[in-house]
Order: sequence, then structure tokens, then C-alpha cells
Amino acid sequence: MLEQRAAALDSDLVRAQTVLGDIQREVAKAETDVQLVRDRAARNQARLDAGTGTAKDLQALQHELDSLHRRQGELEDVEIEIMERAEGAEADVTRLEAERTALTAELEKATAARDDALKDFEAEAAKVASPRADTVAGVGADLVALYEKIRTQTGGLAAAALRQRRCGGCQLELNNVEMSRIKAAPDDEVLRCEECRRILVRTSESGL
Ligand SMILES: [Zn+2]
Repeated sequence: MLEQRAAALDSDLVRAQTVLGDIQREVAKAETDVQLVRDRAARNQARLDAGTGTAKDLQALQHELDSLHRRQGELEDVEIEIMERAEGAEADVTRLEAERTALTAELEKATAARDDALKDFEAEAAKVASPRADTVAGVGADLVALYEKIRTQTGGLAAAALRQRRCGGCQLELNNVEMSRIKAAPDDEVLRCEECRRILVRTSESGL
């Protein structure tokens, strides 16, 4: 969401900068136009002031000088209009740049928050995974495979404690025959509940 806003703002900014660049070139051209007319008027004025040439020449010079002054006035009006547009474009660029700076700060904050959350999650996952990894190493691959298979079948709990003759998974009571068999089974035998097929874990409260 923030990234999309940043991308949209970036293209707005590029557009505004392009507009400003175009107007700045117009300003430069208008300034050149005005300067050319001013220079020419100054030259005519100098010749008029020197007073050399025929009366007709001087009259023509004066006539041209008048029209140069009018032309200069028109060009200066154009220049002012362009400069006003340049100011508007500059304001647009400044505003968009400020918005972009604020958004960059917001993005950095959001990224930092996301990284923090990810770090927390990774720490939590490592905490959960590490005792399990130790267990996996301790019990052997076959039992782990069995455990995973039952977990898939039952949709969760794969091993249950045997407590007071009951399976902690299905809560059903084991009969005497089963209890006797479990009692006689060696410690390293993997026991299963006859009802739900979960791995049964013997405890001191099993009732054996
Ligand atoms: Zn059971």
C-alpha cells in the first residue's frame, strides 16, 4: 500500500519536474527575447543621442525605437506570465518532494516494524523448533515418520499420555488385556491405542 503510494508519488514528481524544466526553458527564451529588443533599443537610442544622419534617418530611428519599446513591453508581459507559471510549477515540485520525504520516513518505519515482527516470529519459531529437533534426533527416524503419519490422520494429536487406564487422545478406557500387555511391554516399545491408533505414552499415573 505504502509502496504503491510511493510509486504514484514518484511519477507525479517526475511529471512535475518535467513541467518545471519545460517552463524554465521558456523563461530563459523569454529573457533572451527581451534582452535582444533592449539591446537593439539601446543601440538606436545611442544613435539618436549622437544625432548623426539626416532628419529622415533620425525620424526612422525614433519610429523604430517606439515600436521596440512596445515590443519590449509585450515580451516582458509574456516573461512575467511564464515566471508566474514557473513559480506554480516550483511549488508543485517542492510540495511533492516534501510528501515523498514524509512517505519515505513512513516506509522506513513500516519496514523496521515488519523486520522486528519477523525477528520475533523467527525467534519464536526457533524456540518451538529446537526442542522438537532434539526430540527428533533422540527418538529415531521411524518413530518420527509414524508420529507424522498419525498426526496427518488425526489432524493434530499423534501421541497421548496413558492416564488412569485411559488414552489421552480418544479418552477411552483400556481393558485388562491391553493393560496387561502394556505392563509387560519393554520400555522402548512403541505402544498404540487400540481405538484411535495414537502412540500411547506411559506415565507414572498410567495405572499400570
Ligand atoms: Zn485412543
